[in-house]
Amino acid sequence: MLYVSTRGGVPPTTLSDALAAGLAPDGGLYVPESLPQLDPASAPDGDLAETCAWLLAPFFAGDALAAELPTICKEALDFPVPRVALGDDGASLLELFHGPTAAFKDIGARFLAACLARLPRADDRPLTILVATSGDTGAAVAGAFHGRAGFEVVILYPDGRVSPRQAHQLGAFGDNVRAYAVQGSFDQCQQLVKQAFADADLRRQRPLGSANSISLGRLLPQMSYYAHTSLAHWRKTGSTLDFIIPTGNLGNALACLLARESGMPIGQVMLATNANRTLPDWLASGHYSARGSRATLANAMDVGDPSNAERLSWLYPTHEARRAALSADWIDDDEIDESIQRVAEETGVVICPHTACAAALLKRLRESGDTRPWCLVATAHPAKFDSVVEPMIDAKVPVPPALQELLDRPSRALPLMARTLELRHALLKG
Ligand SMILES: *Cc1c(COP(=O)(O)O)cnc(C)c1O
Repeated sequence: MLYVSTRGGVPPTTLSDALAAGLAPDGGLYVPESLPQLDPASAPDGDLAETCAWLLAPFFAGDALAAELPTICKEALDFPVPRVALGDDGASLLELFHGPTAAFKDIGARFLAACLARLPRADDRPLTILVATSGDTGAAVAGAFHGRAGFEVVILYPDGRVSPRQAHQLGAFGDNVRAYAVQGSFDQCQQLVKQAFADADLRRQRPLGSANSISLGRLLPQMSYYAHTSLAHWRKTGSTLDFIIPTGNLGNALACLLARESGMPIGQVMLATNANRTLPDWLASGHYSARGSRATLANAMDVGDPSNAERLSWLYPTHEARRAALSADWIDDDEIDESIQRVAEETGVVICPHTACAAALLKRLRESGDTRPWCLVATAHPAKFDSVVEPMIDAKVPVPPALQELLDRPSRALPLMARTLELRHALLKG
């Protein structure tokens, strides 16, 4: 399988080269030249790592990493991804937050790290993975590369705009991981990272690698939990499974759509955004209009210009095709609050503010008479957002052991002005 750019400006590239590059040289995003058609009946009935190795085999076919794919899957996907009942109306919750940093981004980040660690490099200096984060990406990437020889991680996050526990997590790794609290917004952090990657002189002195949500190495493994969950449902019931997916940069939901278009038994796909409504508005009107991001209670989804929108246009090129393939709706902060309280009261399950957007959409569907067994995707553990969730439910949220371990460590972030020269200086001296 070879990979091309959504903008069509680069020759077909191997998976290894696309993984190493991150962004395509023409500024587009890498996508497979074609999608394989897999037969659900031939899928292994094993654990998530086995499903992933089977699902991604055609995507790795012919690449230098192909022989290592099963090992990469075992190494990266070594925690459970259970689907549990939510209430008694047939709905369920796919819990993607049992990894080391308690959010679904562990899956993509760990898979990417396992791939990059196996790619040969001509340069023997360490590769600095530079990431901007609105909270969860930075911790997942830091966790995935922490202690790996040949890698350093530099994280930029907007000071004061991530949850206190997210901030603690980001600064708690130490060793080959450095966290910078940027005096600015997430968009400014992303801008700084872009400028650093565009600085050829800096990159000669300090080899940079990327791990942001446009990386194929994060996108591809995210298909695996949709495949694994829908296959299990299909074996039991003979039916496809419908998903409601909390969405920001559209990486998680795009992986679900790719899994469906590759033949997995997935039915309807609905995106749930917060008040950053670029995607629902696009699907309604047919006109894409990027906006500045707005701060909401679901901060990991505060994205006004979702980077993977370009891949959605590649997968479904027309307005009609997009409308047939998926739907989307948005949820304001009051509804997030209401949703967390209501789900806790009705089902005893505590959800994070992102997952609450999906739960609020399910409620709208039920009110309009829909009775299908939707699967809601739970993207983070609620304990990561204790300062939002605990006052709403008036109770403590138990902290999972992996998260507690990080919270017990000391945490240190360095301040950074949102200026190109400051970041350049920080990278060169470190
Ligand atoms: C990143 C994140 C999202 C959004 O995922 P995308 O792939 O960017 O759409 C949702 N919830 C949580 C908890 C996240 O960390």
